[in-house]
Amino acid sequence: MLLRRKFLQQSLLGSLGVLIGKEQLRASPVGGKLGKASGPVVISTWAPNAKANAAAWQVLAANGRALDALEKGIHVTEADPTDQSVGYGGLPDRDGKVTVDSCVMDEWGNCGAVMCLEHILHPVSVARLVMERTPHVQLVGEGALKFALEQGFSKTNLLTPEAEKAWRNWLKTSRYDPMITVEHLEERNKKNKKKPGQQHDHDTIGMLALDSNGNLSGACSTSGMAFKMNGRVGDSPIIGAGLFVDNEVGAATATGVGEEIVRICGSHTIVEMMRAGHSPEEACKKAVERIVKRNGLQKAKEIQAGFIAINKQGEVGAYSLIDGFNYAVHTESGPYTKNAKFLI
Ligand code: ASP
Repeated sequence: MLLRRKFLQQSLLGSLGVLIGKEQLRASPVGGKLGKASGPVVISTWAPNAKANAAAWQVLAANGRALDALEKGIHVTEADPTDQSVGYGGLPDRDGKVTVDSCVMDEWGNCGAVMCLEHILHPVSVARLVMERTPHVQLVGEGALKFALEQGFSKTNLLTPEAEKAWRNWLKTSRYDPMITVEHLEERNKKNKKKPGQQHDHDTIGMLALDSNGNLSGACSTSGMAFKMNGRVGDSPIIGAGLFVDNEVGAATATGVGEEIVRICGSHTIVEMMRAGHSPEEACKKAVERIVKRNGLQKAKEIQAGFIAINKQGEVGAYSLIDGFNYAVHTESGPYTKNAKFLI
């Protein structure tokens, strides 16, 4: 009888994919070889991040792990001085300091984040080490910098002359209007030929990947809202808001006005919508609808929030609040970029 009970327990644990560790039970990642995953896919917020996808693809095409692919991809954008919202070249806060935020989440549900970190070129790699080498999930400010330096990162001046010039110009008015800064809403309203979401408008990189083993991971990196208050942290390094991964269901990430995305716990909401049976695009739309519901239609027109998502089958989707959000995808058939559908 005892033997039979033990056997039943073992087979139940086996069929649930649960491993008995020394101190804890840990769910094993649900691999695509067991599921229906169609092959590697990587998706990023903003079309210009196709170059980051290309770097990530090299890892995915060699059957590498999704998390390694994302780290490599995000490095491209973090090091790009022309991207004024991520890493080197990012626009500073109102005190002239470039502070960066980043997080990662892997197929095991492990996660790590750094917030309000200064002087470090690749915050995504520090976030990964917070996940892998500390008992914590989040490190902020001075503590995050201290950890990065201990781990062998060196200090870099992230403020480029162009970003400094933009900040000095901003100081003339000191008007904090993130919607306009980020999305060139003013120009859009004036029906200016320059459409938002193009080369100079792209923001935070949020990146999701499904690897050839069918495992999902995500990563996000930003210098946050231009001219924010010193110490301000948005959605991007917050697990559940700027990024969420559930390897049994899907993953989502965000860009846009972080405060609004945090208030609806955007990325987690989207993953839960996919769990309930919605496609990635429908799930993203539902998150956007929540922002509109909370703010009312008039106020919502002044906000941008864009989401991308991927499910376990490798289907991708996106949705944004207003016009101008686009995204980049790379699959076995090659790269493409797409304008997201928008709500209002
Ligand atoms: N979500 C970022 C933040 O709030 C900014 C952005 O995506 O534009 O910091």
